[in-house]
Amino acid sequence: MKPFIDPAELWDLIRNTSSSPGRVREIISMSLDKKRLTLEETAVLINATDPGLVEEIKEGARELKKKVYGNRIVLFAPLYVGNKCTNNCTYCGFRTSNKFAVRQTLSDQQLVREVEALEDNGQKRLILVYGEHPSYDAGYIAHTVKTVYSVKKGNGEIRRVNINAAPLDIDGFRTVKDAGIGTYQIFQETYHRDTYRKYHLGGKKADFDYRLTALDRAQEAGIDDVGIGALFGLYDWRFEVLGLVRHTNHLEACYRVGPHTISFPRIQDASAASVDPRYMVSHEEFIRLVAILRLSVPYTGMILTARENAMVRREVMKFGVSQIDGGTKLELGGYGDSINEEQDLNKEQFRINDPRSLNEIIDELLEDEYLPSFCTACYRKGRTGEHFMEFSVPGFIKRFCTPNAILTLAEYLEDYAPPATAEKGWKVIGKNLEELGGNSNLPEIRRRIELIRQGQRDLYF
Ligand code: SAM
Ligand code: SF4
Repeated sequence: MKPFIDPAELWDLIRNTSSSPGRVREIISMSLDKKRLTLEETAVLINATDPGLVEEIKEGARELKKKVYGNRIVLFAPLYVGNKCTNNCTYCGFRTSNKFAVRQTLSDQQLVREVEALEDNGQKRLILVYGEHPSYDAGYIAHTVKTVYSVKKGNGEIRRVNINAAPLDIDGFRTVKDAGIGTYQIFQETYHRDTYRKYHLGGKKADFDYRLTALDRAQEAGIDDVGIGALFGLYDWRFEVLGLVRHTNHLEACYRVGPHTISFPRIQDASAASVDPRYMVSHEEFIRLVAILRLSVPYTGMILTARENAMVRREVMKFGVSQIDGGTKLELGGYGDSINEEQDLNKEQFRINDPRSLNEIIDELLEDEYLPSFCTACYRKGRTGEHFMEFSVPGFIKRFCTPNAILTLAEYLEDYAPPATAEKGWKVIGKNLEELGGNSNLPEIRRRIELIRQGQRDLYF
């Protein structure tokens, strides 16, 4: 396959695209009309540095989120399964050359214990995370996925298991697909080949092209639900944003389906890590890049993790984020062992800055009148490409997304929330039901809420 990232092309766009106010406004309104932006249009937004125009871009992203997606925020948790790693990514605590790293792979029993603890907190959606190691081949990943699905505790169950793991070959992707994964997520880290070389010093991950084409192999294997991302801070953020958009239009052109999610992690401290600080992304730049990504790929899900602190998350969420993690623990075995003390970076991949419990996060979301959701309905009903449908099918959100968010929140409030959160939650549900107004589904939604109150679970549209 021909490499689809051409650094000269991306730099040329960054250097030579001008951003007149008229053009910026025209592009924002194209995005609000639900059009995915081209590289050139994205570059116009990137180069708009006038504070007034930056505000308009942020406002555009906020409006797109509100108008197109409403106020839902989907919740999940990461679950680290094993941190053995043969690669040497200089920013990561799991790198093979880190002699301080405490290596661990969860046994089946430990994995079950972790999942039970996560279910006890109310989690329904997980992303399993692995280092890259011969022990974590496709068969092993599939085995851990099936194990997670098999764990049921009380009313708890995990209904969607996503994966963040090393790239596989086509057969490997088939194996994990058959295990019933949701999204296969792989971050390119940096789309800039020379920078990539500088940060990936050994192991299979040193091969830029093998990683870049991973999601093509996933598609070949029938996995059309994929997540992309860049690790911000390795190289110029403007280049990475264009890289993400280029990757998106490559997937669209070849497979007629873009990424299900885009992630934009910023580098955090890690054990024995070394990173050139030149490209660290400031708070203002971070907000800009999130808003630009929102406008550039208006149909995709956007993930903001606990790498960012609570204040940053609360603010950045407004500009187009659709999924966040809650109650996050990175230490292997950290959920089952209820490890609460300071992070020990030798046991974890990097530092997190939002250590709040899932309930604390839900409480704040309710306070801000978001509708927290644990919905997994589309994936289980075979409605793949759900973000695309939410976005493109008129009435889809009112028919499916809002009702399912309400029903999964109702389950959470019944089973896991302390009284103060439950009170806020039912108010938010009431308000959202009111807003559904003349929706013909409304009596059925109310009936199902009643069934949930009486003890039934897992009702969805
Ligand atoms: N080993 C697999 C791989 O490299 O694809 C799994 C990924 S790793 C466990 C998950 C992601 O965490 C990486 O893709 C990287 O973007 C991110 N990451 C690694 N070190 C980080 C750090 N110091 N700060 C923030 N994110 C980091
Ligand atoms: Fe290993 Fe992934 Fe860390 Fe690289 S980022 S050292 S591949 S765990």
